[in-house]
Amino acid sequence: MAFFDGIQKSVTDAAAAAAKKTSELTGIARVKFNIRAEEARLRSTFSKIGSLFYASEREGADNAAEIATLIMQADKIKGDIRAYKEKLAEYRKTTICPSCGTEVPKDVFYCPICGEKQERPEPEQADDTDIDSVIGEELDNEDKD
Ligand SMILES: [Zn+2]
Repeated sequence: MAFFDGIQKSVTDAAAAAAKKTSELTGIARVKFNIRAEEARLRSTFSKIGSLFYASEREGADNAAEIATLIMQADKIKGDIRAYKEKLAEYRKTTICPSCGTEVPKDVFYCPICGEKQERPEPEQADDTDIDSVIGEELDNEDKD
């Protein structure tokens, strides 16, 4: 099916361009970029599945095998997105030591490599707000939506 082959090629070219661009990024920016790229691929794949399904229903075309392949691709992409999101969470549990540049866990107060004291935000002061009343307000607000 030449029409879909054309789309496939442009998607592949875009992916190659994205891969080149990605190599210029690092850390969280890179993972976020990958997530966006994979989400775009997933939308494109869903769109192709929809077009093929439409052609099947409308014109009686037999696209079952192609649809099945695309569904497998979509599942693979969804798995990749999940893996990237896990990676992002891993990144977020760390910070970079301002002294030596080592990635260190967010809950340490001194760099394990150079011993530099790490800047940590002050823990939030507990206030007197009754937690039940806050939750109650939130539930009330939800009801209004
Ligand atoms: Zn350090």
